[in-house]
Amino acid sequence: MDNELILKLISEAKTVANQNFCCKYSNFTVGAALLCEDGTIYTGFNIENHGIQSICAERSTFAKALTEGQKEFKAIAVVARNLNEAKFKKTLPCGYCRQFLSEYTTPDFKIYTYDEIEDKIYSYTIAELLPESFNL
Ligand SMILES: [Zn+2]
Repeated sequence: MDNELILKLISEAKTVANQNFCCKYSNFTVGAALLCEDGTIYTGFNIENHGIQSICAERSTFAKALTEGQKEFKAIAVVARNLNEAKFKKTLPCGYCRQFLSEYTTPDFKIYTYDEIEDKIYSYTIAELLPESFNL
């Protein structure tokens, strides 16, 4: 994928992670930017509540896109930082999100994350992050 577009996704993920965060339990803000096949970008962040039902940034972002009628997706950028630290660090989808992503994307769907300390972009496919995924 075009490097400029990858940088745009990372930038939008950082912006949403820095605004209006709802991570009062972990103080770990996660932002995601999802690129749809038609070029639309949706953003979202992790939304925590007391208990185990918190919503990860990846799934909150997909929920926005899916409810707007999007069905085909190309890539997602995920970034995160502790609120008491300035820089974002490499962050990848949790196991639950990997399963979710695998059900709404194709095996070549790309996941990008950015480590601001290393100034390095990491890139994976969902098939790499969740090989042999569960299917009905
Ligand atoms: Zn997750």
